[in-house]
Amino acid sequence: MAVREIEAKSILRRHKKIDSWFISHYGMNLYRGCTHNCTYCDGRYEGYYVEGTFGEDVGVKVNAIDVLRKELNQRRKRPLKRSYMMPGGGVGDSYQPVEEKYQLTRKTLHLLHEHCFPVHMLTKSTLIRRDMDILKRINEQSRAIVSFSFSSVDDRMGAIFEPGVPLPSERLHTLSLFKKEGISCGMFLLPVIPFITDTPTLMEEAVRKAKEVGVDFIIFGGMTLKEGRQMEYFFRTLEAQYPELIPRYRDIYRGNRWGNPDERYTRDIHVTFNRIAKKYHIPLRIPPSLYVDILDENDRVIVMLEHIDYLLKLEGKTSPFGYAAYSLSKIKEPLSAMKGKLRELRGIGATTESIILEILETGTSSLYESLLFG
Ligand code: SF4
Repeated sequence: MAVREIEAKSILRRHKKIDSWFISHYGMNLYRGCTHNCTYCDGRYEGYYVEGTFGEDVGVKVNAIDVLRKELNQRRKRPLKRSYMMPGGGVGDSYQPVEEKYQLTRKTLHLLHEHCFPVHMLTKSTLIRRDMDILKRINEQSRAIVSFSFSSVDDRMGAIFEPGVPLPSERLHTLSLFKKEGISCGMFLLPVIPFITDTPTLMEEAVRKAKEVGVDFIIFGGMTLKEGRQMEYFFRTLEAQYPELIPRYRDIYRGNRWGNPDERYTRDIHVTFNRIAKKYHIPLRIPPSLYVDILDENDRVIVMLEHIDYLLKLEGKTSPFGYAAYSLSKIKEPLSAMKGKLRELRGIGATTESIILEILETGTSSLYESLLFG
């Protein structure tokens, strides 16, 4: 492993609108590269410009805490949008081995605690147990969520596709420890690996174990595979372990520049997953009890509309709510001050308007609750 110490100009990265998967406006990468070296990691994609050999080399933003402190202090004049802060991202797990020495994640958590921010951590490493103390303090003050990602809960598959991280059984055990301490937990069953971990049996096993642990939600998703470094690296594992599947992969990943599998495959796995998940009554999005008191009213409406949109599409229905949420994300004025003018906005019809008014008046929507909790 080669460690490069690098200086960052900025740390906080603001999304164009609230991210309703994570209930977050801000991401931050403390490391560039990830020695966890999952075979499917899309951090390898050339478009992310991660220097060095992905999986072996890692850049450490040694000035990250100073830069972040300045950014948080400056924002005292212009407050940050309130939502979960998410240290970590797609090009580096916050709890990869180099964190043991540099402790950038731990120091970031202390800083976020000083500034009273809620935190949502997503990792594959049980090193997060080291930070149970500060995460508990954040949870008592403003709320913390701990999520782990899995491509399956099968230890044999984990050893093949995620060779640098603790086995799925250890990740599940770690989630159960956080749950026992009163911290809300999520499973990101993402990505399921086509024709390998996307089988009904393995998906049901994952949902069943998530239920046993008592997770508060599961976020599900398929695998992207972009041409170039990411695809070449993943195909080496396939050639060694499942060579017969390569033609099927070439078929579903043909010609999509974002690396998405074809729509029919994606629709089929979502339909199957939805059928399984319904049996276990686990929300398939972060539930409102974990965010309604954190977000302002506009963000609350946007998140709920996006969740409704996702849940309707999971059931094979069409939905205007995703576009409506996008349209609302451009509005600066509080929605409660626009009650009579909502229909003038693009994408807001009578049904959407009535849902928005219901959310503004009651804090939630009956359609949303019935879709989310079944
Ligand atoms: S833990 Fe996440 S960032 Fe790290 S290699 Fe695996 S998928 Fe990539």
